[in-house]
Amino acid sequence: MDREDLSAAIIQEMGAVFMAALAEAWPSVLEADLAGMEQQLRQVGRAVFGPVVERAAAAQAAGLDRGACPACGGRLQSVDQARPRHLQGLVGDYTLHRAYYQCAGCGLSVRGVRAGARAARRAAGAGGGDARARAVARGLPRRD
Ligand SMILES: [Zn+2]
Repeated sequence: MDREDLSAAIIQEMGAVFMAALAEAWPSVLEADLAGMEQQLRQVGRAVFGPVVERAAAAQAAGLDRGACPACGGRLQSVDQARPRHLQGLVGDYTLHRAYYQCAGCGLSVRGVRAGARAARRAAGAGGGDARARAVARGLPRRD
């Protein structure tokens, strides 16, 4: 499934989740005063948007590649392919599953590196590159 198909499938799935959550809450929303409506709809939003964040993060992770160490260019070794992280976000609660790597050369811990990072680093390293390419190469991987 390519990225556009994956995005369309996620939007379709989350649309159905929203409709089901709203249908379940609707009778109570109709009986509530304005403050009660907002409270109940906020709960509906949290129940729906938490899974939306999970799906969006998973779709991003599908495009990640371990790449090379951003500090020394060494080989990154997989530490954990799907380390769970439970978060209470602004729009809902969710669990992210992210791959973690450690550099065999310098020991730097790195979360998943975007596939484009290597190309940007290569461009930055060959003949200096431009400042934006260097910033992109430095900014994509995150340290723990
Ligand atoms: Zn390294």
